[in-house]
Amino acid sequence: MTKLKYVYEALKRASSYLDENGREEGAARILLQHELGLTYSGLIASMHDEISEQQFGEFWAKVEQHAKGIPVQHLTGSEEFYGRKFLVNPDVLIPRPETEELIEETLKLIDRYMTKKELAIADIGTGSGIIAITIKCELPEARVTATDISQLALQTAAENARRLNSKIDIRLGDLSKPLKGEKWDVILSNPPYIAHAEAPGLSDSVRDFEPHSALFADKEGLALYEKMALELPELLNKPGIIGFEIGYQQGQEVQKMLQDAFPDALVYSKKDINKNDRMVFAIIT
Ligand code: GLN
Repeated sequence: MTKLKYVYEALKRASSYLDENGREEGAARILLQHELGLTYSGLIASMHDEISEQQFGEFWAKVEQHAKGIPVQHLTGSEEFYGRKFLVNPDVLIPRPETEELIEETLKLIDRYMTKKELAIADIGTGSGIIAITIKCELPEARVTATDISQLALQTAAENARRLNSKIDIRLGDLSKPLKGEKWDVILSNPPYIAHAEAPGLSDSVRDFEPHSALFADKEGLALYEKMALELPELLNKPGIIGFEIGYQQGQEVQKMLQDAFPDALVYSKKDINKNDRMVFAIIT
């Protein structure tokens, strides 16, 4: 490889290399910012600075790993969610922007239907903790509990909560089991919802590097909604709110499960910014 001198040359070379390897070229910028410890505007301002051989070497090693499919977030160790930085690793699902929309709608519903401030809110299958921690940061007076069946995921959630100074209660266990015996005002979940049959169509970055326990579920991906719909009636207060993230073809079925479980509730699905069904909510009054 010919020697490089400037930051912009490193970016250009990495962008074309990733493009040639069928990856998004934008990943080059993120990896370069990470290597140089710069914000986006900082990087733009540094384009004509020199890059040292060592920095270029470290940067290029990550570019090559990403070309092989390793997610950028595993290489940088973090992802942004709702304006905050969360640590991620192969034990947890990488935060997706769709889940920010679940938070947004939930906050709107709370504002509209809830009068008390000290809400009891639970996030089932918290993974990296994004839903529980974000809700606690946005509603500091709420009492927020996060569950997961994976001890390793909960370690990551606990570390994220600590770094973001968010006091949440973290409980190990299957779905809503750790919530039993108490009543909850709001229950949220972004459970695994991809059908096993869809695995071949997923990008290798997702299929080969993200935890399968966070991606896939039985019964065409619907198994965990079905279980939760059965478990939740004894856990919800009135008024109560349920919010699930779902797969884009699951709206009608998940809506029906919640309507059957809560016959008097207002149940609806909501599209994400890409116009795909992505959330189902139930308002129990
Ligand atoms: N609730 C976590 C998230 O939204 C984990 C989701 C999952 O593992 N399916 O990222």
